[in-house]
Amino acid sequence: MMTGEEYIESLRLQQKEVYFMGQRVENVVDHPAMRPHINSAAVTYRLATDPEYNDLASATSHLTGRKINRWTHVPQNQEDLVKKAMMLRAAGQITGTCFQRCVGMDGLITLYSVTWEMDQKLGTDYHERFKTFLIETQDHDYMTDGAMTDPKGDRSKRPSDQHDPDLYVRVVEKREEGIIVRGAKMHQTGAINSHQILVMPGTAMTPADADYAVSFAVPADAPGLIYVFGRQVNDSRKWEGTIDQGNPTYGVVGGEAMIIFDDVFVPWERVFMCGETEFAGTLVERFASYHRQNYGACKSGNLDVLIGAAVAVADMHGVAKAGHVKDKLAEMAHLVETMYSGALACSYHCSSFGCGTAFVDPVLANASKYNTARYYPEVTRLAQDIAGGFIATLPSEQELENPRVASFIHKYYKTGENVDPIDRIKMGRLIENMTGSTPIVECMHGAGSPQAQRVVIQRLIRWQDKRKLAEEIVREEQEESAWKPSNC
Ligand code: SF4
Ligand code: FE
Repeated sequence: MMTGEEYIESLRLQQKEVYFMGQRVENVVDHPAMRPHINSAAVTYRLATDPEYNDLASATSHLTGRKINRWTHVPQNQEDLVKKAMMLRAAGQITGTCFQRCVGMDGLITLYSVTWEMDQKLGTDYHERFKTFLIETQDHDYMTDGAMTDPKGDRSKRPSDQHDPDLYVRVVEKREEGIIVRGAKMHQTGAINSHQILVMPGTAMTPADADYAVSFAVPADAPGLIYVFGRQVNDSRKWEGTIDQGNPTYGVVGGEAMIIFDDVFVPWERVFMCGETEFAGTLVERFASYHRQNYGACKSGNLDVLIGAAVAVADMHGVAKAGHVKDKLAEMAHLVETMYSGALACSYHCSSFGCGTAFVDPVLANASKYNTARYYPEVTRLAQDIAGGFIATLPSEQELENPRVASFIHKYYKTGENVDPIDRIKMGRLIENMTGSTPIVECMHGAGSPQAQRVVIQRLIRWQDKRKLAEEIVREEQEESAWKPSNC
C-alpha cells in the first residue's frame, strides 16, 4: 500500500493533458486550485497505513490474500460493507469534504459482479480480464476514477437518438487489438488526480444503443484524454491566501473535471463490456446502490465537522448555553445520525451475488442518499442560523495585514476576553465554505439526483404486499366485529 506522500509523488509521473482557466496545467500536484483536492484524496492512503485507522481502511484481497487499501477492495461479507461505511465517515470527519476515491471503488466493486454475470449468461471472458485489472489496481494501490455520467444531451432521448452521436461515450471503431472510443464524461470527481479511468455506461440501454454499452479502463494519461477542470465558487481564494479558503488543506468538494475522450485507444484486455446492452441497466443501478450507501456516511462525517464549527462559534459568541442553540444543535445531530443510520442499515441488511460479492440493500441505500440530499441542506441552514451573518460579510485576510484597519478588525471581531478574533474568523470561513452552493449541489446530485432515488424506490417497493398487509388487518377487523361477547 502507498502512503499519502507516495501517492502524491506518484502523480508527478503522469503526463495528463489538463486545462484550467484557459491554460494547460503542466504540474497538477502543485497547482493551488488542485492541491487541496489531492491532499484530501491522500487521506485515503494515509488512513490505510495509519495504525489507528488501518483496521477500517485496509482489507485482505479475496483474490491474492494480500493486504490492500479498502478503497480497492471488493466486499465479501456484511463486515466489509459495514467497515466501508465506517471508513467513509471517519475520512469525512478528517477532511470535512470529499476525498474522491469512492466512485472508482464502487466501479471496481460493481464490475466484479456484473462481468461475472455477463460471462455466466453470454459465455464471454470479461470477468477474467477484470480480475487481472483488479489485482493490478490492488497491488499498485491505484486511485481509480469511476466515470459514469455522460453529457446526456436531450434527456428525453436515448443515446442513439441524440442530435450528436457523441453525447454518450461510444465505440467508434473496433480493431484486432482493441477499440477506439469517443465522447465525454462530465463532472468527474478526482479525475485529475487519479491513476486510471474506469468508464461505465451511464444509463440503461436498448439494442439500438449497442455502441454505447461500453466499459473499459485506461491509464489517466492515455493519449487522447483531455481534462477540463471545473471552476468553483470563490476558487480564486485558493491562490490568494489561506484563511479565506475556509478549508485550505482539503478544499471544497471533489475538484471535478470534464474528461474528453478524443478517439482513445483501449486494448481488448481492458474492455469489460462492449455491446451487451442488457447489462448496462444492471451495472448502473448496482453501482448507484453502492455509491448511495456512501453518501449517508461520508456526508455525515463532513457534517460532524460543521456541527463542531457551529458549537465553536456559539461558544465564541457566548450563546452556547442558550436553549434555542442547544435545540438547533440537537436537530443537526439528529439529522446527521439519521443519514448515517441508512448507510449502516443497508450494509447490515445485505445479500450476495453468485460470485460472492456482498451487496447492500438497494432500497435502504437509496433511502440513505435521498435523506442526504434532503438533510444536508437543512443542517447547513441550521449552522448558518447559529453562526450569524458575520460568515457572509467577513473582511479579506489581506485586511489583517492592512496597517490602517488591522487593529480595528482585531478589536471589533473579538467577542470575549478569551476569544481570539482570528480563530473566530477562521471558524466563520469554514462554515461559509461548507454551507456554500458547491457542497449543497454536490450532496443533491452526486450519486444521482433525488429523482433517481425516488424512481428506484418506486420500482423496488412491493406495493401490493403492503396493500395485502392493510387488507389483512381490515379483514381481521371484520371477523372481529362479527364476534359478540356471550354475556351481552
Ligand atoms: Fe466518496 Fe462521498 Fe466524495 Fe462520493 S462524495 S467520492 S462517496 S467522499
Ligand atoms: Fe460525490
